[in-house]
Amino acid sequence: MNVLVVVEHDRGELSPATLEALAAARALVGVVHALTLGAAADGRAGELGAHGAAVVHQVHHDLLAAYGPVAWGEAVAQAARSLAAEVVLACGTDRGNEVIAQAAARLDLPFVANCVAIDRDSWEITRVRWGGSLLERCSLAAATKLLTVAHHTFEVLPAPAAGVTNTVAVDLDPSLARTMVVDRVERAAGITLATAPVVVGGGRAVGSAEGFVPLEALAALLGGVVGCSRAVTNNGWRNHTDQVGQTGTRIAPDLYIACGISGAIQHWVGAMASKKILAINTDPEANMVLKADYAVIGDLHQVVPAISAEIIRRRG
Ligand SMILES: Cc1cc2nc3c(=O)[nH]c(=O)nc-3n(C[C@H](O)[C@H](O)[C@H](O)COP(=O)(O)OP(=O)(O)OC[C@H]3O[C@@H](n4cnc5c(N)ncnc54)[C@H](O)[C@@H]3O)c2cc1C
Repeated sequence: MNVLVVVEHDRGELSPATLEALAAARALVGVVHALTLGAAADGRAGELGAHGAAVVHQVHHDLLAAYGPVAWGEAVAQAARSLAAEVVLACGTDRGNEVIAQAAARLDLPFVANCVAIDRDSWEITRVRWGGSLLERCSLAAATKLLTVAHHTFEVLPAPAAGVTNTVAVDLDPSLARTMVVDRVERAAGITLATAPVVVGGGRAVGSAEGFVPLEALAALLGGVVGCSRAVTNNGWRNHTDQVGQTGTRIAPDLYIACGISGAIQHWVGAMASKKILAINTDPEANMVLKADYAVIGDLHQVVPAISAEIIRRRG
């Protein structure tokens, strides 16, 4: 079986997730091939060889210099065809899933994402769905099998292999550059949403970007940060980096104060590791209220400033 692992990297810096994908591929087959996109990753052949890549196929093209899911997906599709790959595999990170989905669409093939167990004989597969809340069994029948493995599932172990390099030619149209990484913003140092001891989350009911000012004030008093639901990021009130949930950040604070958030499953999977949850909601039947340790049934626009005022009063 010819298994091709798509290497995830940022300007040549290998993502550790790639080594998980190589470990998963080695569990499927003895001889693993790797595929690097963009010349910046050429120097990584030794590292990939040390983790089991017998051959490192390198694709060079100007459009692959920066990450762009459309161009990367097309390059993977062309390489899979020319190398006659039977399995194309990546780690199920945001980028891994995005690139393999692009390749699958171009090859007109099914794609099984976030696999945790793969039977290489029957192609019965178990995969994670709904942000980790559901395991699904499926079977895959396709000439070329496109897979990602769930992140943090396969243990990274060194497995020395040759790491011989080979160049693969691709033909990429400039129109494929329509989505590219053009800028990077460093996150401010300090506590992050993922590590904060207290998160004050705001939902649709906050009403506007300015409506978050009282939530910011409460978070500052408690040494925490502000998070939000997807309704908020969809409205452009806050940045996606503040979103809690399946398609946002998983949080695990000592206290999560969920203000005007209904507690939809996609939000809940990102918040459920919180040690204690206080829900502030006008609806006593809201999912977040039913799941919370504590609830205040009321208007967040009155309750949040009242909590802050009480904290200030008690602290003198
Ligand atoms: C594939 C997919 C992925 C998704 N990923 C995410 C994700 O990562 N994170 C996420 O959050 N969502 C995600 N969603 C969206 C999710 O399904 C919900 O639509 C979203 O979480 C709802 O946001 P909300 O709770 O702020 O809004 P709503 O569901 O509209 O809830 C508003 C809540 O505010 C309460 N309320 C109204 N007025 C007040 C008031 N004055 N004071 C107090 N409470 C009040 C209401 O009773 C209600 O409970 C995803 C959806 C899909 C399909």
